[in-house]
Amino acid sequence: MTLSNSDSPIVANTAFSSLSLKTELLENLKTMGYESMTQIQAQSLPPILAGDDVIGQGKTGSGKTAAFGLGLLNKLDVKRFRIQTLVMCPTRELADQVAKEIRTLARGIHNIKVLTLCGGVPMGPQVGSLEHGAHIIVGTPGRIIDHLDRNRLDLSNVNMLVLDEADRMLEMGFQDHIDAIIEQTPRERQTLLFSATFPDQIKSIADEIMYKPVMVKVESTH
Ligand code: ADP
Ligand code: MG
Repeated sequence: MTLSNSDSPIVANTAFSSLSLKTELLENLKTMGYESMTQIQAQSLPPILAGDDVIGQGKTGSGKTAAFGLGLLNKLDVKRFRIQTLVMCPTRELADQVAKEIRTLARGIHNIKVLTLCGGVPMGPQVGSLEHGAHIIVGTPGRIIDHLDRNRLDLSNVNMLVLDEADRMLEMGFQDHIDAIIEQTPRERQTLLFSATFPDQIKSIADEIMYKPVMVKVESTH
C-alpha cells in the first residue's frame, strides 16, 4: 500500500476484510462503498473485536460510528431477542444518524431490531415499540432515564455500552443521568467511549465505568 501525506499515519492493513467480521457485515460494507478503514476504525476495531474497553478520540467525520457500529453488530447474538447493546448520544439528531448507520450496516442480518429512544417525540409509540422488544437501543440519556424510571426498559442483558460524543453529553449536563443508566447495566460488559475531546471529566468517568481501556487517538479525519 502507498502512503500519502504526513497527517496520515501508517496503517499496516486498512482493508475491512483483514478483520474477523461476520461475512454479512463485510458484504454490507462493500455495498455501502466502504472499501478501506479510516484511521480511527483501523486502530479501534482490533481491540473492540477482541472485547476490550476502548476510548476513541477523533474529530467529527473520522468514522467513529462505523467503528463502534461494527463492533456492536459483530458481538450481537441475533438469535437472542434481548436488549444487548445500549448506545447513548447527546441529541436526537445524532441518535437518529447513529441508528440509521447501524441499520445500514446490519441490513439483511436476521431482522436485527434497532430502537431509538429520544426526547421530543411522543412517549406512547416508544412504549409500544419497547413492548415489542429490540436488540439495540440508541437514545439520549434523558429519555432513557424516563423509560427506566417507569420500569419499561430492562438493561440487565446489556453486554455492550457505547457513549458517543461523550464530551458533548457532559457539556449538556447529562452526567447524573449517564451514571444512573450505567448502574442498571451489568458490570460484566464491554464499554466503548467516543469523544472529540478528552477533558478531565471524561478521564474520571472512564476510570469509573471502564476496565483497562485501550486509548486510541487520531488527528486526521481519514
Ligand atoms: P464521526 O462520528 O467520527 O463524526 P461518522 O461516523 O459520522 O464520523 O462518519 C463520517 C462520514 O464518513 C459518514 O458519511 C460515513 O458514512 C463515512 N465513512 C465512515 N467510515 C467510512 C469508510 N471506512 N469508508 C468510507 N466512508 C466512511
Ligand atoms: Mg459521530
